[in-house]
Amino acid sequence: MRAERLFLGMEFAYILRRKRGVMEILDRMGWHRRMKAWIKGASYVLGIFGEAIRSWRELRMIVKGLLSTDHVVLAHLIVTRRCNLSCGYCNEYDRISAPVPTDVLRRRVDRLADLGASIITISGGEPLLHPELEEVIRHIRRRGIIAGLITNGYLLTRERIKKLNEAGLEYLQISIDNVQPDDVSKKSLKVLDQKLVWLRELARFKVNINTVLGSGVRNPEDALTIAQRAVELGFSCSVGVIHDEWGRLRPLSEREREIFLAVQKLGKWSYSRVNRFQRNLVEGKPNRWRCRAGARYLYVCEDGLVHYCSQQRGYPGVPLEEYTREDMRREYLTEKACAPYCTISCVQQVAELDNWRDPQTLGVKAWRAPVTSAYEVRRAE
Ligand code: SF4
Ligand code: SF4
Repeated sequence: MRAERLFLGMEFAYILRRKRGVMEILDRMGWHRRMKAWIKGASYVLGIFGEAIRSWRELRMIVKGLLSTDHVVLAHLIVTRRCNLSCGYCNEYDRISAPVPTDVLRRRVDRLADLGASIITISGGEPLLHPELEEVIRHIRRRGIIAGLITNGYLLTRERIKKLNEAGLEYLQISIDNVQPDDVSKKSLKVLDQKLVWLRELARFKVNINTVLGSGVRNPEDALTIAQRAVELGFSCSVGVIHDEWGRLRPLSEREREIFLAVQKLGKWSYSRVNRFQRNLVEGKPNRWRCRAGARYLYVCEDGLVHYCSQQRGYPGVPLEEYTREDMRREYLTEKACAPYCTISCVQQVAELDNWRDPQTLGVKAWRAPVTSAYEVRRAE
């Protein structure tokens, strides 16, 4: 027995010595420090996204995002600027634009695939106005990219949901602003509830219901009613704080803040740190983070130009086909002056992959002049 213990002790000491030796070699090669940083980053990011990872493809997207910083994680692709609604707070629509031709969109998807995009979310305007939307989704899937869609839901029918299933859509987000339509927004639960029931019955993709606070909709309590209905139907829900035309926060009232916290608690899953981002904002506090727009996140407008995001259109304003990995590297390392009070949560979520590494060293990109509505710009031309 004693001999056995002695043997085990010797073996343990040998393993420790060997382990230290391995660590010393790794240290000398600079790997040990890198591995530690990587493991720290991976556990940090998995802690944030853990609850949200529901498929192998999503897990692969996170791992790929952690392993390299030189590819796009998420791109928003505008397929038409036209919208069938005219929400009072929106600067992202017009009433006259034609849909972007499908072959042009296919080429843009191909270019995003070349830049390593993991997710493409189709947006607008109202993307369901695009007559060949399903072909765009199919092409995204053909290129091995996760396909998402943001819609106001008005044009959803049973047939359209089945077509979206067949095209391979993977997630869909509907924004609902109020219970009854009012002057500010017609995106109301009253109008959309039947569509939600159809989605529950037919959709093979994930559905998230997003509601906003601070947009001037009459009853902030509506956000809670909408979130409760989303949970009742088995969907995830999220709440955002509305940004002004510079992508920054509009102050919330005390009651709006309480509702914000209540809706956050209802969510089926949450990006806890991103929620902390939003919680800071509703309390009027700035956030410290590294916005990687222009690199890990791209906003591709209807004209095919790359912008930081919907609220910082104009930077860098380069055609997607000319956008290179060098451009991405520059923007990855450029600090954005609008970051502390930014409310754009999808860019904040993407930034979590890299917040623990690569400080931004290329100076601060100043705020651009406020974006006027695309409709007004086109009318003026
Ligand atoms: S918020 Fe959405 S639905 Fe409302 S006008 Fe803008 S693009 Fe259209
Ligand atoms: S911080 Fe980034 S995402 Fe937010 S408004 Fe500025 S550029 Fe856009």
